[in-house]
This record gives sequence, C-alpha cells and structure tokens, in this order.
Amino acid sequence: GKEEGRNRSEFFHQKMNEMIWEKSELENKLRLGLINQEFRLHYQPLYDVMSEKIIGFEALLRWSTPDLGLVLPDKFIKHIEDTRLIIPLGNWIIKTACQFAGKLADLGYQDLSVSVNVSVLQIMNEDFAAAVMDAIQEANISPKSIHLEITESRLMESYDLCVQNILKLKNEGIRFAIDDFGTGYSSLNYLKDLPVSTIKIDKSFIRDLSFNSNNNLTELIIILAQKMGLEIVAEGVETPEQYHILKTYRCNIVQGYMISKPLPEEDTIKLLIERNQ
Ligand code: C2E
Ligand code: CA
Ligand code: CA
Ligand code: CA
Repeated sequence: GKEEGRNRSEFFHQKMNEMIWEKSELENKLRLGLINQEFRLHYQPLYDVMSEKIIGFEALLRWSTPDLGLVLPDKFIKHIEDTRLIIPLGNWIIKTACQFAGKLADLGYQDLSVSVNVSVLQIMNEDFAAAVMDAIQEANISPKSIHLEITESRLMESYDLCVQNILKLKNEGIRFAIDDFGTGYSSLNYLKDLPVSTIKIDKSFIRDLSFNSNNNLTELIIILAQKMGLEIVAEGVETPEQYHILKTYRCNIVQGYMISKPLPEEDTIKLLIERNQ
C-alpha cells in the first residue's frame, strides 16, 4: 500500500544519496591522489618474436592510496574521464612516460619505444598536441620513441576534433596504435581513415587461441595488418600455446604475462639488464 510505497521511495532516495556520496567521495580521493602523488606508471614489455628482444614498453597507470591499497585503472579510469581529471592526470602520465623514455635513452636504450594510453577526451583537447610535444622536448627524447594508444570504441564521439591532433603529432614522428582492435563496431573504418602504424589485437581474441579451436578471426586480423603494412601486437599472451600459434601466423609483436607482467620503473630496467639487452 501507501506505506510500502513510501518505504520504497525512502529506500530509493537513501540509495541515491549513497551513490552520489560514494561518487564524490571517489572524486575527492582521486583529486587528493593527484596532489599527494599516489599515481605511478608500471611498464609492460612488448616483445619482438623474430629477434626475441624487448622492443618497447606500454605504460600502465597504477593508483595506491593508504586506505584503498592498490587500485587498477578499470576501477577508476571512467570516473577520471567523467570528472575531467583526465586532463591534468593525462598530462602527468605523458610527462612521466616521456621522462622514462629519457632514462632509457640515457642508459643506451634509445631504440626502445614507450607506449602511452590516451583517452579521447585528451586527444580532443585543443592543447593536446602541444602538451605532448612539450613533454617530449622537456625529456629531450625523439618523438619516434613515443607511441600513443587509442581505443577505437571511444573515438567515434569526437572524431573530427581528434583527427586534427592525431595528424599534427603524426607529422612530428609520433606513432599511433589502435588499442583493443576487433572489439569496436567500426574498426575497419578507422583503419581506412586514421594514420595509425599499429594494431593491437584485443586480448579476448588471444584468450581463445588454441591448437584445437578455430583461430580464423585472429589469423585474418594479422593478415589484414600485414597487407596494410601495419605492425601487429597481440596483447594478453599468457601461454606458450598462444605464443606458438601467433608465431605461426607471423604476428610480429607480443605482450602479456608470458613475457612479463607490468613492472615498476626500477624492475623494468633490471629486466633489461638481466636479459642482457
Ligand atoms: P589496455 O590498454 O588494453 O591494457 C592492457 C591491460 O591488460 C592492462 O590492464 C594489463 O595489465 C593487462 N594485461 C597485460 N598482460 C596481460 C595478460 O597476459 N593477461 C591478462 N588477462 N591481462 C593482461 P590494466 O593495467 O589493469 O589496465 C586496464 C585498462 O585501463 C587499459 O587497457 C587501458 O584501457 C586503461 N589504462 C591503463 N593505463 C592507462 C593510462 O595511463 N591512461 C588511460 N587513459 N588509460 C589507461
Ligand atoms: Ca593499451
Ligand atoms: Ca588493449
Ligand atoms: Ca582495454
């Protein structure tokens, strides 16, 4: 009856309040996190199948707070975008990744690339290209050592704004990758229109690879990349079986726990030295 309805609506309002409170609580935590320098980048190797060498790293964001511990990006990236904190945080990410590329170059690893994930909200910002070039100049590195990874599913929303910045940076020598390839609904259009140099096959495809299953779709994506003269990276490679199949298809670059999980900066450099690279 009426009573029940009121209880239900009170319950609803209470839940709404909790949700709003939790949301702004998280926002406050993220803002404080930026001020208190609670964010770090970890680096995961990209491994060249032919030369059996590490040819670069992908920078992956990590956040640890005194009360929440380590939080992975899937839990907060969307929120960081919604609150537009992605602009200051994104600039910090680019700057830090460029500085890491600078350290690598100082150690003699100037040929290794550093890949940075960038949100469409960053790319559509009119200052984006200048911010990237500033970070590169400040770190005293070649633009060629920086790759930017874009997730196609979010590109559609502000395509024209993004393409301008992508072209500007491409002309400076920066390379672009389409991330999570195969999961968006218009992958092929992007390939036609965007000046990308690399396709990263989404890990959902890699997870399904096995000797006794039909791997046609993955094989076709690799053939497509080869025909178009693009580099192809398989992400989420965990097992020798997956690696072997990808090698058979002549996928040239792999990334995943089989090679290494994402590591803090010092461990990344240790890994290179240990491997005699
Ligand atoms: P992504 O760009 O597709 O990154 C690959 C994700 O797969 C990473 O998750 C990585 O840790 C994980 N991974 C690597 N190897 C394996 C493997 O062998 N098996 C499996 N199952 N997973 C593997 P992570 O670090 O949690 O990042 C999740 C997503 O958050 C990223 O997906 C990316 O979309 C976003 N992200 C991470 N760092 C940044 C950043 O600095 N900026 C922006 N805008 N987004 C970021
Ligand atoms: Ca990525
Ligand atoms: Ca990916
Ligand atoms: Ca992803």
